[in-house]
Amino acid sequence: MPHVITQSCCSDGSCVYACPVNCIHPSPDEPGFATAEMLYIDPVACVDCGACVSACPVGAIAPDSKLTEQQLPFVELNAAFYPERPAGVKLPPTSKLAPVLPAPQVRRAGGDLTVAVVGSGPAGIYAADELLTQKGVRVNVFDKLPTPFGLVRAGVAPDHQHTKGVTRLFERISSHPRFTFYLNVEVGHHVHHEELLQHHHAVLYTVGAPHDRRLDIPGMELPGARTATETVAWINGHPDFAGLPVDLGHERVVVIGNGNVALDVARILTADPDELARTDISNAALSALRSSGVREVVIAARRRPVDSAFTLPELIGLTSTAEVVLDADDHALVQEDLATATDAVTAAKLEILAKLPVASDRIDRRRIRLAYRLTPHRVLGTERVDGIEFRCTGTEDPVQFEAGLLLTSIGYRGAPIAGLPFDESAAVVPNRDGRVIDPVTGTPIAGAYVAGWIKRGPTGFIGTNKSCSMQTVSNLVDDFNAGLLGDPDARPALLDKLVRSRQPDVVDARGWRAIDAAETARGDAEGRVRVKFTDVSEMVAVAAAAPEPPLARRLLAGLLR
Ligand code: NAP
Repeated sequence: MPHVITQSCCSDGSCVYACPVNCIHPSPDEPGFATAEMLYIDPVACVDCGACVSACPVGAIAPDSKLTEQQLPFVELNAAFYPERPAGVKLPPTSKLAPVLPAPQVRRAGGDLTVAVVGSGPAGIYAADELLTQKGVRVNVFDKLPTPFGLVRAGVAPDHQHTKGVTRLFERISSHPRFTFYLNVEVGHHVHHEELLQHHHAVLYTVGAPHDRRLDIPGMELPGARTATETVAWINGHPDFAGLPVDLGHERVVVIGNGNVALDVARILTADPDELARTDISNAALSALRSSGVREVVIAARRRPVDSAFTLPELIGLTSTAEVVLDADDHALVQEDLATATDAVTAAKLEILAKLPVASDRIDRRRIRLAYRLTPHRVLGTERVDGIEFRCTGTEDPVQFEAGLLLTSIGYRGAPIAGLPFDESAAVVPNRDGRVIDPVTGTPIAGAYVAGWIKRGPTGFIGTNKSCSMQTVSNLVDDFNAGLLGDPDARPALLDKLVRSRQPDVVDARGWRAIDAAETARGDAEGRVRVKFTDVSEMVAVAAAAPEPPLARRLLAGLLR
């Protein structure tokens, strides 16, 4: 009864280190880790101890006897990662156990290390976790929203609640006595980089990639053309997008690009609203979906099936929950690609595509159509979007789709950070393994660090940020030990004063917990996971009304800091 890793694998590698027999790969130190679509358990070597189940922050692992019908394909998928061999024959050990990466060791005498982390998404929280493994390190985490956890709250699709389960780990990390939240505080507006440096040894930016890559074709300015990522933010109740006018009154939506974000948005737009009603989807999105006229979502890729950007676990998840179809011409492309596929993951994707029903003209129930070799050419319509014209990649023949909503899903894009250099072409902050680099001199800028998407670009999964942040933190601590970071010239308590003078509505951990409790209580009343606040002033009011902890607890917290 071996254990199996399933769709919501976040790749943070916690299971790898928990496994006593080193049967989960690729591990973070192995070459395939950075490009792997998930981690896999070797069914022959697994001793079925369940240590990985407890370690996994997103509940992605289960014994093979406890899988749901939809998870069964993952049995084969885990096994296929390892070479075929007779039952009971173990692989020659590459190493006895997965090597535990050495934790950074703060060795400099004379004063604690204090770090400002800007951005409370996965990269920021994993960085804080790594820093707080050391005695005497203090971490202040800033976020411009009153709620933490970045894309876990505002980007992960609401029907992926397992994935959102990583917040339990993040809550544990942020409860550390030397961790302080400064939420609803925008660095660059309320406080500035230089000011943070006056109060910390280092400032570590984990601000992600807040913008979208823009598609430059005529007509993109028309109402009805927007981005998939802002639509996902609307679905998730992000305050900046809560009022987005998303018109679902037309039969067809076309999504351009076929990465995992495209799959997320297509799945939600074709899902049963009654199922979504149990989740934390925003009320605005839920009511729009209840009255939606959408019958088909076309996911249009400019390249061939073999080049599909979505991952295999997400394709398995999509095809087991939604009606997914493929045109006859695209089926022919799949067959050609299957004949030349060189790696197992790509071949497995193509085999799933090959089994999809051929798209007929009649649409019996809401469906998703995957379409290939379509390069976007121009938006059709004058007052608003009526459709889109593609050119068939290769032949240049025009191909038109009628559609009332056009969503570009062609990737995220990083934004410049005030006071730091920016690489416009890669849309990242120039850095060497997390140390921010002056592009003119090629030397590190003292005290400035990056991790996550602003460091490496918008790719990977939630857990990919763990090893990314660990690398940055390791370098930051090395610099501190080497005396390269100037000591802050202000007492720590003054930071609190400064922030509150600039932003009286700062939300701390207590305030966030009050928001969290109020949202889940609203959810309980409606049989839902939570009902989110989507308005910043409402959140701030709930946070401000949070009762003060008893004096004894406050004194103890002060002592522990
Ligand atoms: P992505 O995976 O980079 O996919 C971008 C898509 O846009 C590709 O199909 C790309 O096609 C296409 N594209 C780019 N420029 C284009 C253009 N000018 N015209 C037409 N198509 C264009 O991006 P994403 O979907 O935003 O995902 C970002 C990251 O988040 C990924 O690593 C993804 O796996 C991750 N993510 C994971 C999950 C999950 O695990 N559930 C969910 C959401 C996101 P080409 O390949 O031809 O360039």
